[in-house]
Amino acid sequence: MTEQKQRIVVVTGGSRGIGRAICISLAAPDTHIYFNYFSPSDPDAEAAAAAETEKLVADAGGSAVSSSVNIAEEKEVVSFFEEILDKSGRIDVLVNNAGITKDGLLVRMKEKDWDAVLNINLKGAFTCTRIAAKAMMKQRYGRIINMASVVGVTGNAGQANYSASKAGLIGLTKTAAKELAPRGITVNAIAPGFIETDMTALLSEKARNAMLDQVPLGRAGQPEDVAAVVAFLASESASYLTGQVIHVSGGMYI
Ligand code: NAP
Repeated sequence: MTEQKQRIVVVTGGSRGIGRAICISLAAPDTHIYFNYFSPSDPDAEAAAAAETEKLVADAGGSAVSSSVNIAEEKEVVSFFEEILDKSGRIDVLVNNAGITKDGLLVRMKEKDWDAVLNINLKGAFTCTRIAAKAMMKQRYGRIINMASVVGVTGNAGQANYSASKAGLIGLTKTAAKELAPRGITVNAIAPGFIETDMTALLSEKARNAMLDQVPLGRAGQPEDVAAVVAFLASESASYLTGQVIHVSGGMYI
């Protein structure tokens, strides 16, 4: 099958954690995945992690290529999507997954930490959505899935920037769902709870136990728990579902 006839998927932040599990869950012979990553602190390690995701997707029967693209930089994002559209001519699925945390109490939070989190988690998703939606509107088909968080609904002490970015992403999801529905595009959000990845590995034992105490199912989630819901939302079975926030949190928010 030529690439043009394949289902074209774009995943932001696919090198690790939930993004990697999403790439693997969407891997199929008729699907080609483009994913990005961006880690200025250790570019070699992140390029190796991205190569590992590409390999795992190939092992699962699909194909994926990665690029180092900072989603907070509009110019980089525009070139990333231009290249995808030049090569593949369409985008069927966009998963806005990339995200960071820079936690701290509100009164002590530095402006640069607020801006960094909002620029990546919210503005980055907006930029990717705006570009992908144009291609999807022409196709009259598309699936957009945004990775929010349970704290975007509940709030969380120490995460003013992060919870605001995720609440904003939920607002963006609902508005985009209303604007794009007439063109056959669905837009949904997933709100994960406490999922075991590098992001949550930063937590102290005390913070980890406090989080687990809030999970009625009594365990941390795995990236695959979230990826399975992404695969459903990207599938034809979810064609009558839009503007929703699906909590994948072991019941943290009921
Ligand atoms: P992770 O393990 O830290 O992975 C984050 C991914 O995003 C990495 O691939 C990273 O690339 C990429 N990324 C970060 N900044 C980027 C940028 N500026 N441009 C492009 N890519 C960038 O995080 P995770 O736990 O898998 O989280 C994935 C998503 O789920 C995030 O949106 C997060 O907020 C959300 N979430 C996670 C949890 C949880 O418990 N883990 C809960 C709720 C929501 P590098 O590898 O190059 O750094």
